[in-house]
Amino acid sequence: MDNTIACQACDLLVNLESMRPGQRASCPRCGYRLTRLRPDAVERLMAYSIAALVALVFACLFPFLSFASSGVESVMTLPQTPGSLWRNGLPLVAILVAAFIIAIPALVLVSLLLLSVPLARGRFRPWLKPIGRWLFHLQSWAMVEVFIIGVIVSLVKIAKMATVTLGLSFWSYVAFAILFTFAIGVLDRYQLWNAIEAAEKETAS
Ligand SMILES: [Zn+2]
Repeated sequence: MDNTIACQACDLLVNLESMRPGQRASCPRCGYRLTRLRPDAVERLMAYSIAALVALVFACLFPFLSFASSGVESVMTLPQTPGSLWRNGLPLVAILVAAFIIAIPALVLVSLLLLSVPLARGRFRPWLKPIGRWLFHLQSWAMVEVFIIGVIVSLVKIAKMATVTLGLSFWSYVAFAILFTFAIGVLDRYQLWNAIEAAEKETAS
């Protein structure tokens, strides 16, 4: 198994052969955090991803926001929000909401499950490597921050339109955001890549 990892920040090659479970490793040149060896990283990734996906589904089922504008109250669910914003002359915000609040997180969670479910059982699947590369690319692009900024921008825009009351789905969405952040936090390039390679060897032999 390859125990060498390139630092994401300065490209220094670091050998992690002597690492023990539970330890963290940082780059000796620039201090960037390289990995933290968790014995149950894949299981945690799977658990957080399933929980986050359930919370996201809940967030789509119940009232997310209720608006009171000129005496008329309207209740809106999360999936209805982009369409309503579009009709209210905010197409850009509608696209932001649909992409950053629903579509991209759902796509990331499904990808995390496609990665963690086979790996938790030590099985190799042909899609593991392409999905792994895509997720690590997204991760180094600081996705969670971008995503949270998208949520805040969208909520501020919505709040300007009317008096807003937060519904049950809003709080499901908050739970989702926390679980999603945990799942991304467990996503460890070094360990997952080793797990993918170990599963591949196991299947080939
Ligand atoms: Zn470095």
